[in-house]
Amino acid sequence: MNKELRQAIIAGNWKMNKTRPEAKALIEELKPIAANATCGVIICVPFTNLETAVELTKGTNIKVGAENVHFKESGAYTGEISAAMLTEIGVEYVIIGHSERRQYFGETDETVNLRTKAALAAGLKPIVCVGEVLEEREAGITEEVISRQVKLDLAGVSAEDIKKTVIAYEPVWAIGTGKTATAEQAQEVCAFIRATLAKLYDQATADAVTIQYGGSMNPKNAAELLAQTDVDGGLIGGASLKAADFGVLLEEASK
Ligand code: PEP
Repeated sequence: MNKELRQAIIAGNWKMNKTRPEAKALIEELKPIAANATCGVIICVPFTNLETAVELTKGTNIKVGAENVHFKESGAYTGEISAAMLTEIGVEYVIIGHSERRQYFGETDETVNLRTKAALAAGLKPIVCVGEVLEEREAGITEEVISRQVKLDLAGVSAEDIKKTVIAYEPVWAIGTGKTATAEQAQEVCAFIRATLAKLYDQATADAVTIQYGGSMNPKNAAELLAQTDVDGGLIGGASLKAADFGVLLEEASK
């Protein structure tokens, strides 16, 4: 990454894992490991663990994120959580448009866009996920897919707000599969996202946006991925559930 322009951020996505006692144990283990990190450190945890995570990380360098947010402010939306409910308990980030939500829960670019704008309006920093599926990569339309997602997901987001937004490039075929994009593939698409942002906003704005790679990043492949100019950290699933592994990623991103 380009350290003069941006700070790397490593964000854990715990997905639907960890009861409250398990979450407490993992956070306590993480605290001393994360203390020396100079990169940004975020843990995105299930709704039931948010309050616990905010309490336990007070006074540390670990920030807390949610894994989803609804786009309406309040009302008859059974089972949903609003942005204001998250900020009120001290949550700072939220993952939006993760491929699992797109695949299993009907998330579309339109709803990703609504959630992103609602999060920003409430003062939450969104981590917006984009990425192609294997068939799209094999058909040679990765850039077309990413360009469409970036434009639709971020439509109407101001230049000021885009600088508060993290974009995670997550090739769907690499998530939870053990298959990682090569460092070249990750760099190519992250640079393409930045070029798309430069067209939508301007180069200085695009240069200020944190663009992460996500997809089976682990202690073995992190150094090479994080060494790429346009890869500003990672969104981490599996490896965020083990404090030691997550610690290695923090160390690599802090170099
Ligand atoms: C993710 O869920 O965002 C992710 C990248 O998962 P994993 O690291 O397990 O591939």
